[in-house]
Amino acid sequence: MMEPTADVLIVGAGPTGLTLACDLARRGVAVRLVERAAHPSTASRAKTIQPRALEVADDLGVIERVLKEGAVNIPTRHYDRDRVVSEAVEVAAGTPAPDAPYPPVWLSQPKFEQILRDRLADLGGTIEWGTAVTGLDQDGDGVTATVETATGEATIRARYAVGADGGRSTVRKHAGIALRGTSHPDQRWHLGDVRIDGLSRHCQHVWMSKEHGILSLFPLPGTDLWQFQASVPADVNDPQEPSLELFRDIFASRAAVPGVRITGADWLSLYKINVCLADRYRAGRIFLAGDAAHIHSPAGGQGMNTGIQDAYNLGWKLAAVLADADPVLLDTYEQERRPVAQAVLGDSTTRLRAVMRAADDGDGPTAQRGLTGDFTTGLTIAYPDSPLTAGTAAGGRAPDAPCRDAATGRPVRLLDLQRGPHWTLLSFGPDALPQPDGPAAAGLRAFRVTTDPTATGPRTVIDTDGHAHRAHATHGGELVLIRPDGYVAARRPSRDLAAVVALAAAHGLR
Ligand SMILES: Cc1cc2nc3c(=O)[nH]c(=O)nc-3n(C[C@H](O)[C@H](O)[C@H](O)COP(=O)(O)OP(=O)(O)OC[C@H]3O[C@@H](n4cnc5c(N)ncnc54)[C@H](O)[C@@H]3O)c2cc1C
Repeated sequence: MMEPTADVLIVGAGPTGLTLACDLARRGVAVRLVERAAHPSTASRAKTIQPRALEVADDLGVIERVLKEGAVNIPTRHYDRDRVVSEAVEVAAGTPAPDAPYPPVWLSQPKFEQILRDRLADLGGTIEWGTAVTGLDQDGDGVTATVETATGEATIRARYAVGADGGRSTVRKHAGIALRGTSHPDQRWHLGDVRIDGLSRHCQHVWMSKEHGILSLFPLPGTDLWQFQASVPADVNDPQEPSLELFRDIFASRAAVPGVRITGADWLSLYKINVCLADRYRAGRIFLAGDAAHIHSPAGGQGMNTGIQDAYNLGWKLAAVLADADPVLLDTYEQERRPVAQAVLGDSTTRLRAVMRAADDGDGPTAQRGLTGDFTTGLTIAYPDSPLTAGTAAGGRAPDAPCRDAATGRPVRLLDLQRGPHWTLLSFGPDALPQPDGPAAAGLRAFRVTTDPTATGPRTVIDTDGHAHRAHATHGGELVLIRPDGYVAARRPSRDLAAVVALAAAHGLR
């Protein structure tokens, strides 16, 4: 058997594959990222990056650009035909707070993918465009993929493969993993990216009625395009193929605002909703992530966001095992992420039903508010039952908090301390933190978090307003061990430093 040419083969350069490639590249893992398409897709699709996925973006070093290119607090204007009924910012959850700095950001998927591609290039990574995986085998040492390119067939050998190749995943089929679920034949949408004259771009424009269903026109930040979304009425058996004329007709019948005209389109589609989940996320050395593992309704805007977090969960584990951590760590990927997808499937289905009901009642604001909630922020995701979680008080997301660096006097956030591929140890309380030692301690950064405003010393942050203590629900005298992906692995009394480091080492700290 030939020697692996890569540590990890990632199949698919959508948001999931790109996130994983960035995470692995910054960890020094040799990646090959292959993409069937010859060039990036420009179709808008997902357009919200949720607060938790923004924290991932922060960790990967792209948050500033995301915030610069995206938009927040876009209001929704509701109409009855050409009459404006209301206008307000209707995102129900995700307002920034000391423990969670980012509100949901509106940014279209192609723009976000471009940001990730640029980051990957900065990290020295490349994308092999026009390279489709057509076969995939595995043995005890690695995987062998057959790929088709413009110049013919070739093979790629890697230690592991990750199928981030979307809902119709070829990798999933070759791994022998079933995707189970249901299609919702009554849930069909005409979707597209269109140009419109005569409509103010400061807000989203929405029409809802029992007779016609929903029409939404959303101004995509940083472009002159609008995302056009129109539900196909339930009594239509055979929806028309998408065309510019059809989209103009839909606008005329549901909105008919004088002086407004759809002038062109970059993307037109008919989208049918399926709700499905892969039986397993792993078959030996092959993993599934993102839409390859779960597909569901776009209500709540969680598809892309869930894929990003799958990748973020898997990245540090693959890197650790490639650096000789116990391979059992890789089992925790499915143990942690599949229940999350299950919950997302249920949540997005419930939200879609509620939206359709409110639309039937012509109650646009209620429908719009129902699209988001605490769950859709991604901030409430937790892994309390994971084998990587020690004790009942652990397993949740490590919250942010504004503090002050004792050495420099400058503001510093807990997320700043966590940024990077390392594990983080926060020691709450007045005692100076002994430096953890041993070979594993190199991958661990330890900080003292104290409310004493006179505290000095390196790796010490002052919790000026008590936000860090409150967010971590601690009165001090405690160690909080945070995984590379920002979840609390353990909380122990301050004296247990050696035990905490040993725990991290057992769970992949390298
Ligand atoms: C209309 C619409 C609206 C949406 N709205 C939202 C939203 O608001 N919020 C949200 O979070 N999500 C939303 N989603 C979902 C979101 O678009 C997907 O969840 C997201 O694209 C999944 O990312 P992915 O990287 O897992 O898969 P994909 O984006 O599907 O990427 C898979 C990639 O793999 C490539 N590929 C496939 N087969 C192969 C092969 N054999 N070899 C090599 N490459 C291959 C494909 O070309 C593709 O580039 C929406 C989706 C749609 C369609």
